[in-house]
Amino acid sequence: MKVLIDQNEINSRVIALGRELAQEYQGRPLTIIGILAGSLVLLADLIRAIDVPHQVGLLQASSYRGKSTKPGELFVNLDYLPDLSERDVLLVDDIFDTGKTMQKVMAQINEQEPRSLKTAVLLWKEEATEVDFGPDYHCFKIPDHFVVGYGLDFNNEYRHLPFIASLEGSDLV
Ligand code: 5GP
Ligand code: MG
Repeated sequence: MKVLIDQNEINSRVIALGRELAQEYQGRPLTIIGILAGSLVLLADLIRAIDVPHQVGLLQASSYRGKSTKPGELFVNLDYLPDLSERDVLLVDDIFDTGKTMQKVMAQINEQEPRSLKTAVLLWKEEATEVDFGPDYHCFKIPDHFVVGYGLDFNNEYRHLPFIASLEGSDLV
């Protein structure tokens, strides 16, 4: 495992993004929606860095990848989602890869007709993106390598690591 982004870099970038978002959403009815489970760690740090009132909700998107690093069919569970009408919604996820997860989740959120909808992620694999948009906010762009830590898992392990590391070869079994 090789550390790509250390704990200090993540912390200062997340704090800076929180300040930027606080300015953007000041005086607006903000609801931040975290996509489970990968966004957990970013969500916890980011909401404490956004110094304006806001609500928090969750939804689950899972892609039956099992032991694989390649996603399968996407399943979206909206059971825990609060009412989003008249709300400015910010969707938070760990990583924007092909962008298909975000595209599908955004379509479902838009059915609730929020006042606005934007997206924020920790990591953006821009060269792997297959949709015709990117995240509105991102903390770091990374190359197209499989990474873990700070919420990101491999086979549901490694989420607790306070840094981002890439897994290669013998780690991926
Ligand atoms: P997308 O739909 O944008 O291709 O993929 C988004 C989802 O795939 C993320 O929420 C994440 O669960 C997973 N994913 C994509 N790239 C990585 C990666 O490098 N590491 C991990 N752990 N998950 C990833
Ligand atoms: Mg995910």
